[in-house]
Amino acid sequence: MGKKHKHGLGEPNEDEDRETLTTNSGEPVPDNQNSKTAGPEGPMLMEDYHYLEKMAQFNREEIPERIVHAKGGGAFGTFTVTNDEISEYTMADLFSEVGKETDVFVRFSTVAGSRGSADTVRDPRGFAVKFYTEEGNWDLVGNNTPVFFVRDPSKFSDFIHTQKEVPGSGLKDPTPQWDFWSLSPESLHQITILFSDRGIPASWRHMNGYSSHTLSLYNEDEERYWVKFHFKTDQGIKNLDPEEAKRLAGENPHYHREDLWTAIEEGNYPTWTLKAQIMPEKEAEEYHINPFDLTRVWPHGDYPPIEVGTLELNKNPNNFFQDVEQSAFSPAHVVPGIGHSPDKMLQGRIPSYDDAHRYRLSTNFENIPVNKPKNTDKNNYHQNGYMRTDGNLGSGPNYEPNSFGGPTEKPSVKQPPLKISGNADRYKAQERIDNYKQPGDLFHKVMTEEQRQHLMDNYAENMKPVDKKIQKRQLVHFYKADPDLGRGVAKRLNIDIKEAIDQELLELDDNEIRNAKRVNDLL
Ligand code: NDP
Repeated sequence: MGKKHKHGLGEPNEDEDRETLTTNSGEPVPDNQNSKTAGPEGPMLMEDYHYLEKMAQFNREEIPERIVHAKGGGAFGTFTVTNDEISEYTMADLFSEVGKETDVFVRFSTVAGSRGSADTVRDPRGFAVKFYTEEGNWDLVGNNTPVFFVRDPSKFSDFIHTQKEVPGSGLKDPTPQWDFWSLSPESLHQITILFSDRGIPASWRHMNGYSSHTLSLYNEDEERYWVKFHFKTDQGIKNLDPEEAKRLAGENPHYHREDLWTAIEEGNYPTWTLKAQIMPEKEAEEYHINPFDLTRVWPHGDYPPIEVGTLELNKNPNNFFQDVEQSAFSPAHVVPGIGHSPDKMLQGRIPSYDDAHRYRLSTNFENIPVNKPKNTDKNNYHQNGYMRTDGNLGSGPNYEPNSFGGPTEKPSVKQPPLKISGNADRYKAQERIDNYKQPGDLFHKVMTEEQRQHLMDNYAENMKPVDKKIQKRQLVHFYKADPDLGRGVAKRLNIDIKEAIDQELLELDDNEIRNAKRVNDLL
């Protein structure tokens, strides 16, 4: 790589002959400044192929941007195992021994904004890690929050529409999101985090990452464990004051991208400690929380996180488009020893991500270097498609079984069977569901008084332009999580809480509400 200037502009790669300018087909170009014309002042000639090719390529520079997580940045690094306790639960080779290193690529992002939008907005952050293991790529496609807004994937695209510009004017409006959230109370936990101080991280280096989903681990003894992963920042949590964030959004929309780039260029490599909460398969049936509900965490007291290893980012991409824009992560990508879970949101994501990549990058997106597994070429009988450049099975057979050789299956990596039962139907969540306890605990038990005040200020500021009817509907949810939260936001919105809350709920003592197991049933 050549020498770089402050933000990465540098000399071309030294190992390539870049002396002569050529067309894409390699023809040397005699003049790149003056188009070919009939006479010095005359019209252009169609035969100026270099110009035609230059514009044709330019017109096709943009590929579709991601429908979510369009704005981001990323870097390469390593994951190193520091504690192999986890290898008791999984045959995953990457966790097999202390000191084992695996190359990674990590992409951070905002969710709602378009490709050029500002980094310092209030939004969850994507935290997607691609582990290039010796048994294929494992993508841990998480966020900086341990939970999500909805628990059923049928609601996902509707929810995302509420985060984007409104269809009529193409302008931002907080109404759709509060309308949707107030009609979808399972969102309360996630919005408590989103409107807390952590909703605008100071940088990507200063936030945690979570698998959010429950995944699974399995070992050679065919034992399955449910698992939640947490990347805890070693830089410490730091957040931005909302006013400062607004100023930075105007001054430098790439504030977070620049922060990561600069830290790595300066050798100030950010690290995270990977931890795992582990639940034996059988305990899922009896646990008082549905462990596959993406709107809820497993309290640390129930399942203490164990240390697994260290993630370090230490190499900036050499070319942003090639490595970051074209990176493609998918929760479908697991490796032997790691599997999925019945989490409906996870199930919904498994087919969806690669589908999006095929649309955005074409069928063979895994031939792009950042996406390519390091352990193997595509060892299967899929063939052809746009941009197939990896040999395409050469002259070998393109079917299996065959009598000529080629890759065959490996039964030893089979997952243990998973017992499932029940009538096929569309179920509204009923059992083991509580939309209020955990956001209430976060507000009442985890946050400091100052953080609680910030949360209520942030809610009120954002809800001010929204219809009274919607504000009141949302206040009921706040009140059910914690009466102080309901009253605090109501006061800031100049609403008398008695106008918003049903008499039955008002008659309950505050602590009765906080402790009620099924506040959901109170109204
Ligand atoms: P614990 O006291 O063991 O854990 C509390 C967790 O809350 C810590 O991981 C802390 O992260 C995190 N936290 C602190 N402030 C915020 C914030 N503003 N937004 C999001 N997370 C924050 O308690 P429990 O495990 O019993 O959980 C209590 C509540 O904490 C939960 O209901 C949930 O809302 C929240 N939480 C729980 C997590 C879990 O996996 N159990 C993970 C994250 C949040 P840190 O250590 O980095 O300060």
